[in-house]
Amino acid sequence: MSKKFNVIVNVPALQTNTPFTYIADDAVEDDIKIGSRVIVPFGKAERPIQGFVVEEVTQKVTGDLKKIISVLEPEPLLNEELISLSNWLADKTYSYRVSCLNAMIPNLVKVNTRRFVKINSEKITQTQVLELLGEQQVTDLKVSDLTFAQQRQLNHWIKENKVSLEYATENSARKKMINWIWPLITDENYGVEVDKIRKNATKQLELIEILKNIDPDEGISQTTLLNEYHVGRSTLNSAVKNGWAKRSEIERYRDPFEGSDLKSDTSLQLNEEQQQAYDLVVRAIEQHQSKPILIEGVTGSGKTEVYLQSISKAIGEGKSALLLVPEISLTPLMVKRVRARFGRQVAVLHSGLSDGEKFDEWRRIIRNEVKVVVGARSAVFAPLQNLGIIIIDEEHSETYKQTDAPRYHARDVAIYRAKNANCPVVLGSATPSLESRSRVERGRYDFVQIKRRANQKDLPEIKIVDMREHLGDGFNENFSAPMVEEIQKRLLKKEQVVLMLNRRGFSSFVMCRSCGFVLKCPNCDVSLTMHMDTHSMRCHYCGHEEPIPKSCRNCGSTKIRFFGTGTEKVEQQLAEIIPEARVIRMDVDTTRRKGAHERLLAKFGNHDADILLGTQMIAKGLDFPDVTLVGVLNADTALELPDLRASERTFQLLTQVAGRAGRADKKGEVLIQTFNPDHYAIKLAQKQDYEDFFRKEMYLRHLGKYPPYYFTALISISDRDEKEALKSAYEMLNIIQPKVSSNAVILGPTAKSISKIKQKYYYQILIKYQKEPGLHNALLEVLERSQEKFRHGTRISIDPEPQNFL
Ligand code: ADP
Ligand code: ZN
Ligand code: ZN
Repeated sequence: MSKKFNVIVNVPALQTNTPFTYIADDAVEDDIKIGSRVIVPFGKAERPIQGFVVEEVTQKVTGDLKKIISVLEPEPLLNEELISLSNWLADKTYSYRVSCLNAMIPNLVKVNTRRFVKINSEKITQTQVLELLGEQQVTDLKVSDLTFAQQRQLNHWIKENKVSLEYATENSARKKMINWIWPLITDENYGVEVDKIRKNATKQLELIEILKNIDPDEGISQTTLLNEYHVGRSTLNSAVKNGWAKRSEIERYRDPFEGSDLKSDTSLQLNEEQQQAYDLVVRAIEQHQSKPILIEGVTGSGKTEVYLQSISKAIGEGKSALLLVPEISLTPLMVKRVRARFGRQVAVLHSGLSDGEKFDEWRRIIRNEVKVVVGARSAVFAPLQNLGIIIIDEEHSETYKQTDAPRYHARDVAIYRAKNANCPVVLGSATPSLESRSRVERGRYDFVQIKRRANQKDLPEIKIVDMREHLGDGFNENFSAPMVEEIQKRLLKKEQVVLMLNRRGFSSFVMCRSCGFVLKCPNCDVSLTMHMDTHSMRCHYCGHEEPIPKSCRNCGSTKIRFFGTGTEKVEQQLAEIIPEARVIRMDVDTTRRKGAHERLLAKFGNHDADILLGTQMIAKGLDFPDVTLVGVLNADTALELPDLRASERTFQLLTQVAGRAGRADKKGEVLIQTFNPDHYAIKLAQKQDYEDFFRKEMYLRHLGKYPPYYFTALISISDRDEKEALKSAYEMLNIIQPKVSSNAVILGPTAKSISKIKQKYYYQILIKYQKEPGLHNALLEVLERSQEKFRHGTRISIDPEPQNFL
């Protein structure tokens, strides 16, 4: 009796959210596991397509079942827990189940890669492999063309390490192989072999000594022998010929930390507040409690130390640990701290890795070779078994929300996984999201505060510069006199300065002073941004590019001037005001290349520069002892955005960046330039009083019927044809309206604030609600309708709890 399996096929549609049952051939049935990717025939034409095995079917199934054509890899990429998670995720985010499964696995294996069979010549001959598969299959494997007997033999060989399957879209995708030397010199044969060596063959005598002292089970890399033991290549070759050692290629995982020296460190003695937080977490680990714990700790309070020791505890209990950090603060600094504590037990997943590196890290995780995973948002799906703790650092960060389907929030996924694993979720932040902090009030989360910095130093003093009063007293629109004065003071004392330019919702656009004309993108309705590096105006939505205008296109006036500020412009201005200052600029342009981020920060850490000038990306995680001044050049831009979280984001950003100052012995100071000195977000950021801000903001959210008092769902509709877009929007409205009570608030359809993007018109409907049992089904209906609309060119998306309203 062959085994039967339920398979979710790779066709993103509602119909395929329900798995189809297939039958396995006896030959390969044992290689199929839950989480395996398989090729199955689909539809009337029996087109072979990919799918994920989601369960084994043990009960009788009536009717003819189609056969699974092949198993893509004998080692599944996902495990049972994640397969079941995908079900929940699809429902929660109104997306297709296969989209969720695809979102979980690393990129490399998703694309249509060529696969080939790599032969381990130590264990099997090429002839044997060619005999089974034929040359075509060895270089370009199509498992679906193999017979089941062939598949079975191949899988067998893979398990015995005789062959392996490699991906070959690009070099990075391949496993990295290195030559390894296995000594064959033992106490028994040592004397015999030495006697054979001519007495003047000193090189050989040296080598045999070296080989004798190497653990035969561990072996040594050829490179090490050549470079560090200074063994000659020919000496080594003849040693292999003489049978003193055997050489083979072994797989070496690509090490994202290669080259960076790893200092190991040990736990610090926790202070009283840290200890309280740690105790709370440890109790949850020991008692297998999954109630989330919110740690509200000021910047520099040593939350990371609490995380690390909590991870240690979980590992000590034989469990694994997942640490999520925002992509932006997944700096080498942070990774190093974790690696220093846990060494090779750590895998890292983030977008800075090459696909090959990610693939390798993923396999180390699924093979249970690591205990700790550190990563950004999507690492929340890391296939760790036996989870003992999940930690989300900077839990308020909006980067935890995925903006494309499936639109999940990593925090929700973490809480769900933790519940299944009966382990705690620790949420840490100096400025928790209102959602999380309010759940503490309602008893849903446990709570602990760390109010003092770990070094017992005070938080930096924050001063506000009212730009309305200082306009014109400085040297240009970005630098007030007090700002310049403070910077110069630090330079004299050989201290360092961090300057932040808030680029959120901001662009440096061109406006005519004579007629007010603003240069906009011809495709989209947004203003073009000036880029000094390429001397061009660029649209950030569609990529349109044109030269910087010398005169106004509308009236011909040459009084055309640049509004707003880019980091490049500020860098120039800085050079004019303080020519002697050495400046490092950090923004998307200077950090695009791999490793650039790390290099720039290292330079700053080495005092190769006095000023670090950057965008929001410098607000988090930096820990430089000699930074005594943090300047925020423009605090206001985020406040102008039509976003319910505008104040919250501004408060968070200012608090974060202020936290970069005075982290060591020297006292820190922060200067914030603003046109809105009386705004509560700015005033409370000045006091660094999160709790006060929380209460004020909660009050306003309550008045506005916003989260966390109300849930939100956003439906976006787009089409090239504006009428179609609007018509579809009303259709969706008509689906929803009858299904919700009068307590729900429906806003829209309205044109998005940037309504025309990439030649398309965008409309949106925002639903605010508290308890609407009918809404879930209404949204499923919207999803269903969106499938049909899709065929006619209208795109409809559903975003549960959107983080962005632009
Ligand atoms: P946070 O993540 O809360 O902003 P960090 O974990 O970066 O804070 O800690 C800030 C600094 O304090 C770091 O340099 C860290 O090494 C140090 N630190 C943390 N805990 C202790 C402790 N218990 N004793 C001494 N120094 C500590
Ligand atoms: Zn455009
Ligand atoms: Zn003009």
